[in-house]
Amino acid sequence: MPNYNPEISLSGISANMDEGSEINPCFDGKILDTNPEDHPNIADATSQDGKTTVSINGNNVRIKSIDGKIGNYSVRVWAGDNLCGKGNVILAGTIEDLLDVGGVLEDNEQHLRQSGVVRVYDGKMDPVTQRNKKLGEIIADATGQFNTRLNYRIGNLADSILVQGRKIENGTEKSYVRTIKIPRGDVRGLTLRVVPYDGLAENGITKEDFRRHMGEVLTGDNTNGKGIIDALNLNPIMYKWDFENNSSYPFKEIIISKTPKNPNIQAFFSQTTAENIKARILDKEDIGAWFNGKVNNPNQIRVVNNYIIDYNSTADYGRMVIYPEINQYLGFFLDIYPEDGYINFGETFVIVNEKGEIIPGALTHEFGHSSGMGTNMAGSHALTLPQEKTIMVPYLINLNYSTPRFADKKTAKIIYEDSYKHGQGNMMKNNLIGLYYIVGMKFIDE
Ligand SMILES: [Zn+2]
Repeated sequence: MPNYNPEISLSGISANMDEGSEINPCFDGKILDTNPEDHPNIADATSQDGKTTVSINGNNVRIKSIDGKIGNYSVRVWAGDNLCGKGNVILAGTIEDLLDVGGVLEDNEQHLRQSGVVRVYDGKMDPVTQRNKKLGEIIADATGQFNTRLNYRIGNLADSILVQGRKIENGTEKSYVRTIKIPRGDVRGLTLRVVPYDGLAENGITKEDFRRHMGEVLTGDNTNGKGIIDALNLNPIMYKWDFENNSSYPFKEIIISKTPKNPNIQAFFSQTTAENIKARILDKEDIGAWFNGKVNNPNQIRVVNNYIIDYNSTADYGRMVIYPEINQYLGFFLDIYPEDGYINFGETFVIVNEKGEIIPGALTHEFGHSSGMGTNMAGSHALTLPQEKTIMVPYLINLNYSTPRFADKKTAKIIYEDSYKHGQGNMMKNNLIGLYYIVGMKFIDE
């Protein structure tokens, strides 16, 4: 009888495992040899692709997945020796990708790392509980870092996952809950910026009232103080000018037209008034605060004798014009391409006296509308907070308030936070960013 090499049976052996784990299949009774005098054992095993480290112990083959390696893999298993001959087989399986979630928790006002809690949910709502299943909770340490592997196979999750975060210090909640939607898959290097409660208590504003205020000023559904119970429930879109080239028509410039848009009106900005408006826009503590200081290049603010903005011309997209007026105060923006959520035009009209002077606070208020408070022509006003806290009240009585107030600056820092981008990380139509996902009060499972 000739010498036959041993054969290895894979019957009953599964090589599937989870990322970062190991298997230890036993080949006792699975090594077959036609020669009755041969009793071969497992002799060797080698990874075919570098995805695993492999070792043998008797007839056991220990296969340990290397961190970060996923997908199909294979190991060649040898049995026998020089006497009875050698045989081998390819053991193939899959390393399942588990959900890794990691990044840093920061606040949106100073971009400092913060301690807190991050929770991860399946993106699909359970039809029975009407909740998104919680996949895990991660602590962000004092350096703001969070990083863990959750025991869920990515392939079994919905198309997306939801990540929520909140700043917590010594057991006390210090921020609103930020929610971000991410396509299913490992999350690494996520910067999760939360809106801190900083300054609210000092200014006598409850966290509930501040978020209500934001809902009011971001909602065009303004019913003169009668209708809005909690505008945040409408999840208003945060319209904003594009200062980061996220869209086709980013911010271009602000033009101060010294003469009216309507040629039949006798009104003008004096040169001093025009230059003063420009200086105030460049001052990030003054009306420059409406853009969180992002209009900081003097070349982006032009004082001209007259400028007529053309809504039909893409050349004018990204421009805001400020005009003198005799009859009305008005500030608004237009979003010609609502699918991207970014503002395309803005106009601000302020009443001047016969010397070409304006009331400073009136400009501040109208400029606020043009910066993003008021959905497409419908000026939105503050109904909850008083004028000491916001200049966006429907009627300014105290004309000594010339600069944006505390709530206005806090609001603008949220709208013009770089990481709050349209088109990513949200659950609305076209993925536009909504207020609900920035100043949430609770985690999904609370
Ligand atoms: Zn107004």
